[in-house]
Amino acid sequence: MRIIVIGAGVVGTTSAWYLLKDGHDVTVVERNAHSAMETSYANAGGICPGFAGPWAAPGMPWKALRWLFQDSAPLKVRPRFDPAQWKWLAQFTANCTRSRFAQNKARMQAMAHYSKRCLTELVEETGIEYDAAHKGILHLFTTDAEMTIGHASSRVLTEMGIEHRLLQPSEIVQIEPALGLRSQTFSGGIHLTTDETGDCRLFTQALAILAEQRGARFLYNTDATRLLIKNGRIHGLETPQETLEADAYVVAAGPFSRSLLASAGLSAPIYPVKGYSLTCTISDNQAAPVSCVMDEHSKVMITRLGSRLRAAGMAELAGFDPTPTPSARRLLLERVKTLFPNASDYDKAEWWCGFRPMTPDGPARLGQSVIDNLFINIGHGSNGWTQACGTSRVLADLMAGRTPQVSA
Ligand SMILES: Cc1cc2nc3c(=O)[nH]c(=O)nc-3n(C[C@H](O)[C@H](O)[C@H](O)COP(=O)(O)OP(=O)(O)OC[C@H]3O[C@@H](n4cnc5c(N)ncnc54)[C@H](O)[C@@H]3O)c2cc1C
Repeated sequence: MRIIVIGAGVVGTTSAWYLLKDGHDVTVVERNAHSAMETSYANAGGICPGFAGPWAAPGMPWKALRWLFQDSAPLKVRPRFDPAQWKWLAQFTANCTRSRFAQNKARMQAMAHYSKRCLTELVEETGIEYDAAHKGILHLFTTDAEMTIGHASSRVLTEMGIEHRLLQPSEIVQIEPALGLRSQTFSGGIHLTTDETGDCRLFTQALAILAEQRGARFLYNTDATRLLIKNGRIHGLETPQETLEADAYVVAAGPFSRSLLASAGLSAPIYPVKGYSLTCTISDNQAAPVSCVMDEHSKVMITRLGSRLRAAGMAELAGFDPTPTPSARRLLLERVKTLFPNASDYDKAEWWCGFRPMTPDGPARLGQSVIDNLFINIGHGSNGWTQACGTSRVLADLMAGRTPQVSA
């Protein structure tokens, strides 16, 4: 089958990879000059099924309301005259019940664990290098209230059979010695021993090259402007240069999927949630994290990626406005400097922001749309690096008529 994949982020590129392995003739259309130049460019680098879960959780609407009035909040809703934002927020709130949270979390966990197995197989097959490490992730708690959340999380992890270790404050430095270099106090932690880290951009760009070598066509600098419909099917993809034709089309355009799907009369429940990261060269190995710390206090994740340190976090619901918010950058910088003050020269950090493609309930959307030759693989939110291989393999299964190993 001739298949056009729209988008060469981690999701579009892994989709192309698995479709290629099924023997399809694959073309990837990407408006940037390279793959992974948008949300997959500089995320926190965590491949962490242990954390996969929806943001729509019991109590979240009240927290978000309180955060509206705090300058130093990890999540900020900036209300706009945008019906898409209000609709998304209403759907998000409706998913904050205990039962919906449990259902959505279970689905995301199943996909994330499956995805990690798929990633392992893919790396074994290709030998791709992406500053990967397999040293677990430390969930760090500073206050007693956070540790109470930690105990509850540990119970859920145990119920789900996820390997982890609950840590006393004194045990934290055994996992991350640099946290002991300054007189900071923590209330405890959880070590998710099997979670991994790696650079999503390096992975995606290496995979795109391999896919090209194995026969996929990557049309870079090509903007997909419209899906053209005739007799209830997609008969072409309009680009400024030409109309491209295929037997089937896959939309994997991350946060930008909504407008493309709208051109075919479809709606996608995705809203962009802006996040920030900084990346810098590690100047003192002993003062840097060994692996990855997820700081519950600020919701900032700090990861070692080879010889670099990446800190990422913050969340703003403000449409596609790329303007950095000074308070968000300040908070991120303050927290990484507090936890790992001497790891790097933070004045030389490279700053980035990207838009998480968030669904209101949490799970990504994938499979056939109501138009039978149009497929989607979208809405991976804050877990796209963790889930991409899994959702893309399931997509390839569905397109081949096979039963996937986990439900979509
Ligand atoms: C601050 C931050 C930290 C994060 N940390 C983590 C983490 O630690 N672990 C994790 O699992 N996830 C993390 N994520 C989430 C993860 O980065 C995303 O879920 C993932 O990158 C989404 O990938 P994607 O391929 O769907 O989207 P993208 O990477 O945005 O790819 C979409 C592609 O489609 C292209 N495109 C869009 N429209 C068109 C068009 N019309 N024509 C042609 N091309 C088009 C874009 O140019 C882009 O290349 C984080 C996100 C952020 C913002």
